[in-house]
Amino acid sequence: MTPLSVAIIGAGPAGFYTAEALLDAIEAVRIDIVDRLPTPFGLVRAGVAPDHQSTKQVARRFEQTALREAVHFFGNVEIGSAVSLDELRTIYDAVVLALGAGQDRVLGIPGEHLLGVYGSALFVGWYNGHPDLRELNPRMRGPAAVVIGNGNVALDVARVLVKSPEEMAASDLPDYAGQAIAEAGIREVHIVGRRGPADVKFTPAELREMGELRECDPVIDLRDFPESIDGGDPRDRRVKEKNLAILRAFAQRSPGKPKRLMFRFFLSPDRIEGDTEVQAVRFARTRLQGGSAVPTGDFETLPCGLVVEAIGYRCAPLTGAAFDAERGLFPSQDGRIDDGLYAVGWAKRGPVGVIGSNRPDAELCARQIREDFARGTAGKPGRAAFERLLRERRVRSVSFDDWLAIDAAEVAGAVRPAPRKKFTTLAEMLAVLAEARARPASPEPLAASDAQRR
Ligand code: NAP
Repeated sequence: MTPLSVAIIGAGPAGFYTAEALLDAIEAVRIDIVDRLPTPFGLVRAGVAPDHQSTKQVARRFEQTALREAVHFFGNVEIGSAVSLDELRTIYDAVVLALGAGQDRVLGIPGEHLLGVYGSALFVGWYNGHPDLRELNPRMRGPAAVVIGNGNVALDVARVLVKSPEEMAASDLPDYAGQAIAEAGIREVHIVGRRGPADVKFTPAELREMGELRECDPVIDLRDFPESIDGGDPRDRRVKEKNLAILRAFAQRSPGKPKRLMFRFFLSPDRIEGDTEVQAVRFARTRLQGGSAVPTGDFETLPCGLVVEAIGYRCAPLTGAAFDAERGLFPSQDGRIDDGLYAVGWAKRGPVGVIGSNRPDAELCARQIREDFARGTAGKPGRAAFERLLRERRVRSVSFDDWLAIDAAEVAGAVRPAPRKKFTTLAEMLAVLAEARARPASPEPLAASDAQRR
């Protein structure tokens, strides 16, 4: 039977769960996972906070998928520049967009261009060692920072800004980021929501963690708290009640630590003030009307030397696939975009949900591909033709074994208890591979021994 050739663009959780689901759903399938970075795992590496190492353990599961015979990883290959989507569709029976949402939504208010104002995709990518953002060098000046948004990304950013170097020692925060954060002297972070404490999008476990910081107290004004939560989906209500209970408990503490995390509500960003760099954010006070935040006519200004807008992400468009510019995603019929073209994860749904939310999408996508090719219409050349094209264009792709060599070098370079010292430039990563190739062959190659160690 001719195997079905599937290309998955994006080696993050959506891509890997899709590969896993395809292996389960289709007997004869060959899967190539293509990523523009030499490193796999997408947001697990560059989005999940550096101090949330247990969340990053899911990479072990993805590694098992990558090591399967039918799966190949092509890192360092950008679809849209090295090879177009149209070309990929002529080579593979099915192509799955698992691109994630790596761009920032913007507020569209005056002053957003000032030095010291960053979207969370940029700021999080910078402190996570993303090669594109290594040179961001964010302008950060204490004592106060403002983080706009009441989602988990806002919590991540605030936590990374206030944790002590000792608390970050077991993380993979790059040295340059740790140093810049320490030098900024931030002692007060305002996490600002445009709606109220019952409308936060935090998950309770992540919120609770903000009360367990060594040098920082959460501070909240109880005035705006609702008495109870009525109506709505029972599961959502339970989450809201848990969040409110945690926030109330925060409000009852007496702050005594050197840093503060101020939870502020009913404030909608109106303008960012400063000459060339940010000095303050002016917020419009709001009240709820039909669930939405509407301005009351009053304003409040919070002085600060850093603003991070954690208000959600967007996908980047890709030539050859229709794009919904307003929502920042690839429109589809529940994942089916066109004949042989599918979307999963944030590329399909927009930037909501945790890593595990990608599994149902992935399983659905695998079922759709199985159904769509049930009549035996597979037969495109797949991997061999893709490899030939990369050779012709002199694209130096990075295999999963190559990644294992990079991974081993990162782990070996760490100062314990840090789990790894990330390479943060392409040049460093490619140098590791050149060195590994130049080394005389040992009875057990580096990558293979590393794979066994895991
Ligand atoms: P999110 O959960 O959608 O939160 C976005 C926040 O930005 C909301 O509070 C939203 O307020 C606010 N916002 C949007 N537009 C705004 C505007 N114009 N002005 C002021 N505020 C605005 O997004 P996220 O924090 O980027 O997270 C993305 C997904 O990743 C979420 O599903 C999240 O749970 C997940 N994630 C999970 C973890 C974890 O599990 N540890 C960590 C990070 C991220 P409104 O509610 O009023 O719109």
